Amino acid sequence: MDDDGTILETGELDKESESTEFYNGIIIPGFVNSHCHIELSHLKGVFTQESGMAGFIKQIRVQRESAPKEERERAIEEQMDKMYKEGVSAMADISNSDESFVIKASSPLYTRTFLEVFGSEPHDMPKIMNQLKELKATADNIGIDSCPSPHACYTMSKDLLSESTAAGLDCGFISYHNQESWEEDQLIREGKGPLSEDYKSRGLSTPAINKSGPLQYFIDSIRLNKRYSKEIIPGNTLLVHNTFTDEQSINIALESLQNPYWAICPLSNIFIHRSLPPLELLRRKGAKITIGTDSLSSNTLLSMVAEMQSIQQYFPTVPLTEIVKWATLNGASFLGKERELGTIEAGKKPGIVLIENIDLQNLKLLPGSISRRLA
Ligand SMILES: [Zn+2]
Repeated sequence: MDDDGTILETGELDKESESTEFYNGIIIPGFVNSHCHIELSHLKGVFTQESGMAGFIKQIRVQRESAPKEERERAIEEQMDKMYKEGVSAMADISNSDESFVIKASSPLYTRTFLEVFGSEPHDMPKIMNQLKELKATADNIGIDSCPSPHACYTMSKDLLSESTAAGLDCGFISYHNQESWEEDQLIREGKGPLSEDYKSRGLSTPAINKSGPLQYFIDSIRLNKRYSKEIIPGNTLLVHNTFTDEQSINIALESLQNPYWAICPLSNIFIHRSLPPLELLRRKGAKITIGTDSLSSNTLLSMVAEMQSIQQYFPTVPLTEIVKWATLNGASFLGKERELGTIEAGKKPGIVLIENIDLQNLKLLPGSISRRLA
């Protein structure tokens, strides 16, 4: 590598020199954390586990601003620093506010920030879209890459979902929480269940029923916009979680979206629902899988290796080499950064990461496996 970390050459070492360094473990390119809410880092250890989605949303409402601003900013900085040292080179991060922007601008870790909106009441749409424009202007001024993005089908009026998704697609990228819970599925397919009850008890509107499920509901919402009414929907779309997706939904996405990616966040899914996405099905359908840590409101740590360990634990037939690809190249490709990141190749600057304490014979992670950045 040259001094700035660009790889000049790869190959086999024919002669040791004084500068040759040896490591015990595997060397991989820098990670891409494809789903995080770094601005929720102050919520570490605060939330109750296994709350289900309605319970989780209630906790977010109550706890979101439970710590003072300086403490929240300190937590963001600490976690980004830790992630970088553990080998994360890039991140797709969700922001509802500008609290993380300045820290991101000065971090060596590349971030594309998804400026997320939600709002269940149709008459609030113009106001929310204006706030989104202001947040986008702030991100542009500070000099970080960002795109508008919708939250999920169950927290938005159909018009807001349609408008904010169109704004994201115009920008080239969206990150969307998809089929994260069985409650979401029940709300969209049947109009009932804990989410429906929660909204009704607060006097809020609920989405129209769609018997084909949440993913079809999302595609139909995008198609409300004339620009995206007919053809295949362009841009890079990250569908996040997919814990309760099924074959029919995967087919809908593959047929409608030009470039769908499927982010999985296993430890967050276990935290909230004690559930995991149908990984074998996603693999069989050829889905481009990426890995995210989600936030410290639904995870006890932001660690790519810990996510990979849980995948290996629950899906032992998936080879480690494939999991590494999900954690690196696929995320880089979603971010449009595959020319710089994601593999160890001449000309790229992916970051070099060592995973130590692994079972080299069987190429498996061990409970004590850890990662650290070498370059
Ligand atoms: Zn999320």
